[in-house]
Amino acid sequence: MIRKNVCEILASLPPGVELVAAVKQRYPGEIIEAVRAGVSIIGENYVQEAEEACAAVGNGVRWHFIGRLQSNKVGRAVRIFDMIQTVDSLSLAAEIDEKCRQIGKVMPVLIEVNSGREKRKSGVLPESLEHLIEGICDLHNINIQGIMTIGPLLENPDRLRPFFADTRRLFEQIRDMRLPGVEMRYLSMGMTDSYKIALEEGANMVRIGTRIFGERPEK
Ligand SMILES: *Cc1c(COP(=O)(O)O)cnc(C)c1O
Repeated sequence: MIRKNVCEILASLPPGVELVAAVKQRYPGEIIEAVRAGVSIIGENYVQEAEEACAAVGNGVRWHFIGRLQSNKVGRAVRIFDMIQTVDSLSLAAEIDEKCRQIGKVMPVLIEVNSGREKRKSGVLPESLEHLIEGICDLHNINIQGIMTIGPLLENPDRLRPFFADTRRLFEQIRDMRLPGVEMRYLSMGMTDSYKIALEEGANMVRIGTRIFGERPEK
């Protein structure tokens, strides 16, 4: 089933769009099956889970962090991950920068935007994005490569469209500023229920779990 799902999704994505397989709560065996079917980027929400999965799956794939990163886990995270998609504050960026400096690494990151302006959601508010990026782009061991958003949890995914469209406008605005150290290559938005809409609104990276692996088990 996993193989068939991955093949269907990969065949349906326009050229130039990257698939991130969101693997929270999946077993390493399931992740390996997805990789054999053509997945090349694994999205992990938890550092501990990623360490275990990475030991089983190996370095033949790219590992992206897509969860909430606690500052006390940054040192472990920068060792495993090839990209951190959820940078939303200068303090978190500074911690990543320092830990990367210690191991001689430059970490590609995406800045997470709270496109729905929701109270308890992660991500920087849209109106604060530019200021945050200007602060982070001075850090030598971080390379900003784009923007990520989740958006509100809505029953009808078509209602996410305006949030994706707003995020795309921000992406283009920052890109056109041509800031030093800022690349704006990736616009990461869209999950199982919303990725088709996200693609229509300009996403070039989608993060998909359920559509690949089935419903997550209750844990
Ligand atoms: C779980 C998760 C996804 C994938 O969600 P599905 O609805 O299972 O496709 C994507 N992005 C993030 C940040 C997630 O935590």
